Amino acid sequence: MKNIKIIISVLLLSNTIFAQIHIKGNVEIDMDLGLLNCSFNLSNIPEIEDYRILLNKGMNIKYFKNTKNELINYKGHYDGKMQGEAIEYTFRSKSTTSIPNEFSIIYKGAFPIYKNEFNPFDYKGIIAFNGETLRAAEQTKWYPVIYDASNDKLLNSYTYNVTVKIKGGNTVFINGTAPKKGNVSHFISKKPYPLLLFAGSYIFVENNGDYILNTSINTENAEKVFDNIEIIKSKLSSYLNLKFTDNIYLISHKAINKRKKGSSWGFNTYPAFAFTGLDFNNLVNEQGNISKRNFKYFGHEFAHNYFGSNVSSGKLSWFWSESIADYLSYNIVEDLCDMGYLKIVLLKEIEGIKDANFISLNKIENKNEINGKYRYSLGPLLLKCFEDTFGRNKTNLVLISLLEFAKSETLTLQHFKKSAMKSGINKDKFEEFENYFIKDENFKQNIINEIKKKI
Ligand SMILES: [Zn+2]
Repeated sequence: MKNIKIIISVLLLSNTIFAQIHIKGNVEIDMDLGLLNCSFNLSNIPEIEDYRILLNKGMNIKYFKNTKNELINYKGHYDGKMQGEAIEYTFRSKSTTSIPNEFSIIYKGAFPIYKNEFNPFDYKGIIAFNGETLRAAEQTKWYPVIYDASNDKLLNSYTYNVTVKIKGGNTVFINGTAPKKGNVSHFISKKPYPLLLFAGSYIFVENNGDYILNTSINTENAEKVFDNIEIIKSKLSSYLNLKFTDNIYLISHKAINKRKKGSSWGFNTYPAFAFTGLDFNNLVNEQGNISKRNFKYFGHEFAHNYFGSNVSSGKLSWFWSESIADYLSYNIVEDLCDMGYLKIVLLKEIEGIKDANFISLNKIENKNEINGKYRYSLGPLLLKCFEDTFGRNKTNLVLISLLEFAKSETLTLQHFKKSAMKSGINKDKFEEFENYFIKDENFKQNIINEIKKKI
């Protein structure tokens, strides 16, 4: 009986974690007036007791409706609380406190257009009309984003079926599917993505399903950029013996603040990467390669094709998603740049963590204890030590096994151990590694010493 209970609760747990919210509906964009008109239905919403529905503060809600087409009363219109760029909404209901599995919403927003004019600042959270394009990343909450308060988790990657009508423009892109020309376009994705919207009047180039949007890059240079992307993708897929399935979208966009000449800022909403001020024609050098820095950057980002939202659950979620992605970028650097550059990278990472304090992985209680330095420096260095100890092949086999486990379970250190055994690593040797590099009081120093010794 106990076993049955455990099995049932595991099933329920994995359902909650891996349920994908679906968004369906219509978007109308008026590029000349800076208007967004949206009508959406959200379904397959997991049961969350302590929830908020987040919507950009510039959006005015017409109404929420339930599956019976009845109005739903809600809190947040008067004296609503802000969260980032959004206002928090919750439903007023006597019968239930959890968020319903499905609801509909209609809303409208008007935004300023910065055409030859500037805002003092620009960042990923702004719905930016610049007279040519509209940029609305998931961070803006231009579509309803669900916040799970007790887990402090934003649910913003949805599968979608969305029709976009555009006035004053001719091209629309929604993250995860190919950009489309025309005044009315229909976008469908069965894989969940954060919904970055990029629309307006622009051109794009395509190669093997990968795209560069809104840039006057010439065909020859575009091909070279795509060649580099292809090399990184095929390397990653050879490490993990799994096909690279995501198409990559590089977007050139114009910031709405005044920027120093030559300066550039970018953001990514995987698998899209947006840059401003970057000359795509100069992305590759005379030898036809992107810079070593970009090999590392793209290596990390593209590794999220494998270790992304699929492993983002549990206390160690940042380690599984970010540290493994970054560890894989070391191998991209080693294989596609040179050992010398990898040494520079590793030394820089060591420098960055030498004065920081970390909790060992086995004692992590809260997922945010794995902070930026932990995710992007300590974690990948720990995995590098694992590779130094057991070799690249076995390490790759461990990663492949973790991906298998992640299909139905939340990853833990137990899975790491099981994966090591499955990959032919001796139990005692694994425990020796675990005691020294994970559980030891001086684990950070042990990692630093090991990396230094190897380089
Ligand atoms: Zn990352």
